[in-house]
Amino acid sequence: MAGPYLTIDLGKIEHNAKTIVDLCRAHGIEVTGITKGVCGHPEVAIAMLRGGVSSIGDSRMRNIRRLRQAGVAARLMLIRVPPLSAVDEVVGSVEISLNSELAILSGLSAAAERTGKAHDVIVMTDLGDLREGVWPDALLPFMADAVKLPGIRIIGLGTNLSCFGGVVPSEENMSRLVACARQVEEDLGLDFEWISGCNSSALELIAVGRMPKRVNHARIGEAILLGRETVRRRPWAGTYQDAFLLHAEVLELKRKPSVPVGERGEDAFGATPRFADRGDIDRALLNIGREDVDIGGLTPLDRRLTILGASSGYLILDATQAKGSIHVGDEIAFSPNYAALVAAMTSEYVEKRTMPEAARSETGA
Ligand SMILES: *Cc1c(COP(=O)(O)O)cnc(C)c1O
Repeated sequence: MAGPYLTIDLGKIEHNAKTIVDLCRAHGIEVTGITKGVCGHPEVAIAMLRGGVSSIGDSRMRNIRRLRQAGVAARLMLIRVPPLSAVDEVVGSVEISLNSELAILSGLSAAAERTGKAHDVIVMTDLGDLREGVWPDALLPFMADAVKLPGIRIIGLGTNLSCFGGVVPSEENMSRLVACARQVEEDLGLDFEWISGCNSSALELIAVGRMPKRVNHARIGEAILLGRETVRRRPWAGTYQDAFLLHAEVLELKRKPSVPVGERGEDAFGATPRFADRGDIDRALLNIGREDVDIGGLTPLDRRLTILGASSGYLILDATQAKGSIHVGDEIAFSPNYAALVAAMTSEYVEKRTMPEAARSETGA
C-alpha cells in the first residue's frame, strides 16, 4: 500500500438500498439514489440500482458525465440547480433536473427545442431550510410562467430540508408541500406526477407513517451509503454502517510528551491548538491527512485509539491504550462520516477499492 485507501463494499450498498427502497415502497414512495457523496462512482450507482432505486441523481455535471461514460443506463437526475452556462449539456445528458429560476428554465426550454430532446423538471420550493427553492408565496406566478415554456415538462414539485438550515421534515411542513402542489395544480390545471419531498432525514417520518400520502418521491444518498438517518445520525435498522472504510498505515510510533515543547505560534493551518498535559503518550503517525479527508469525521474502529489531530499529510493518534498491539507498518481502519467520505472520495491521493473486485482477483477469475 503506497497511500491510504477507501474500501467500498458494493454488496452492503446494494443491501442498504434495498432496505430503504422496501421501506419507501411500502409507503408509496419511489427512490432516486443520490451518488454525489461518492463523486458519481459508477459501481456504487449500479449497486444502488440493483437494490431497487428507480433512478440516479447527482449534483455535479462532471459526476453525471462519469456515470454516462461508464454506461450506467438509468434515468439520471441533476439535483443541484443547473448553471445557465450549461443548459445544453444538461438537456443532453440528464432526463430530469431540479430548478428554481425562470431564466434557467427558459434556457433549458430553448436547449430542449434546439435538440428536440424532451426534458423533465421538478420545481423546488423552499420550506424554510434556506437553500435552493422558490419561496412558497412566489410559487404560483413562477409556475404560471414555467408551464408556458415549450420543450420542458414540469412533472413535479419538490423541496429540500436538513441541508443548510437543519430544518427537520415534519408532518406539518410536508403537508405544506402537498398543499402548495395542490394549489398550483388547481389554479393551472396541472396534475403533478411527483411530489419530491425528502432525503435521508425523512426516514423516521416515513417509517412511523406520518408522511403525507401525496409525497411519492425521495432522493436518498447518505442512508444508502452510510446506513443512517440524518436528523440525529442514528444507524438505520437493517442497514450497514460500514460499507465504506478508510485505511491508513502507521509510519512512526514513538513515546513523546502530550504537550509541545517550546514557544508556540500557529500550526500548519493557522490555528493555535491547546493541549492537555497527560505526560508521555504513545503517538502514531499515519499516512493520511487533511489533504485527503475531513479528520473530524473519522472514527477509528479500534476504540483504544484516539485522533489527536492532523496536518496535510500526517494523522496523529494517541495509541497509548493499544500499546504492544500496534506497530510501524500496520494498517489502521476508520469509519468515515458523510463529510469524511465526500473528502476521501474527492481526494486523488486516496485509492478506491471496490470489494467484489478484490474477491474476483482472489478467485483468479
Ligand atoms: C444531497 C441531496 C439529497 C440527498 O441527501 P441525503 O441526505 O444524502 O439523503 C437530496 N436532494 C438534494 C437536492 C440534495 O442536494
